[in-house]
Amino acid sequence: MHNAAFASLGLDWCYLALPVEPGRLGEALRGLLALGFAGANVTVPHKREVMAHLDLVGEAARAIGAVNTVIVREGQLWGENTDWLGFLAALREAGFEPAGRRGLVLGAGGAARAVVYALASVGAEVTVCNRSAERAEEMVRGLAGSVPGAALRVGAMESLGEAAQVADLLVNATPLGMWPETGVSPWPAALPLPSHLAVCDLVYNPLQTALLAQAQAVGAGAVDGLGMLVQQGAAAFEMWTGRRPPVEVMRRAALGQLTRRPAARLRG
Ligand code: NAP
Repeated sequence: MHNAAFASLGLDWCYLALPVEPGRLGEALRGLLALGFAGANVTVPHKREVMAHLDLVGEAARAIGAVNTVIVREGQLWGENTDWLGFLAALREAGFEPAGRRGLVLGAGGAARAVVYALASVGAEVTVCNRSAERAEEMVRGLAGSVPGAALRVGAMESLGEAAQVADLLVNATPLGMWPETGVSPWPAALPLPSHLAVCDLVYNPLQTALLAQAQAVGAGAVDGLGMLVQQGAAAFEMWTGRRPPVEVMRRAALGQLTRRPAARLRG
């Protein structure tokens, strides 16, 4: 999607995938400076460790505990997180305004941290349910300390139904439903899914997940993972180039890749 965006704006730039071994992250980052890169995206397993090698880390990235975007600025390496921006933009483009609403987030990994930070930063109340409650507790404690006035709590998996009744938005931030286990949903089949909810699944491989099928079956709103994927990229694009990202070009390119390639070849 970045290469399609560069081409559409006539920029003679190129986006490459460069695998880096964990022990060589520092070297790889210094290499960006020497090679004249404008920036980079960082993905698993480097999103946290990368922070130790940067000259500056943005406030949101520090709070979330992960950098997914590096910008080369005046000979220095700056780290930002655009996942949270992408999540908010995706909700809004789908017609859901999260400010002041109630969110129920499933998961407490990297993506969940970005989602909970995003919701807290616009004043939404958030309940987090995760397989391991301790991990959810740790995440909520950490984020509550970083976002002034954040209303965050941990919910028990056993009371998912009650939490959903009082929520406006349900977000799947677990990999449940991702290829190859596409029949799996994080929402228990025996539990009625409230139809008033907007349901957002971060999984984008496939885009139509078992959870979104459950949502559609009861007439709830359904937001797939493509919007966040594209919008986090669009935010990074703007940071690197200073240009307004051609979001529709990026969306078409990403969708083309997601639907053209065999699912097995896509990374989570
Ligand atoms: P992660 O850091 O590995 O976290 C995974 C979370 O899911 C953990 O809280 C884990 O619970 C829970 N989980 C994993 N397997 C489970 C299972 N079998 N049953 C119940 N809970 C389970 O992963 P992540 O990086 O946050 O990514 C999560 C998903 O979001 C992935 O599918 C990824 O592709 C997607 N994502 C999408 C976008 C986008 O732009 N659309 C961006 C980022 C991520 P425990 O804590 O108990 O282990």
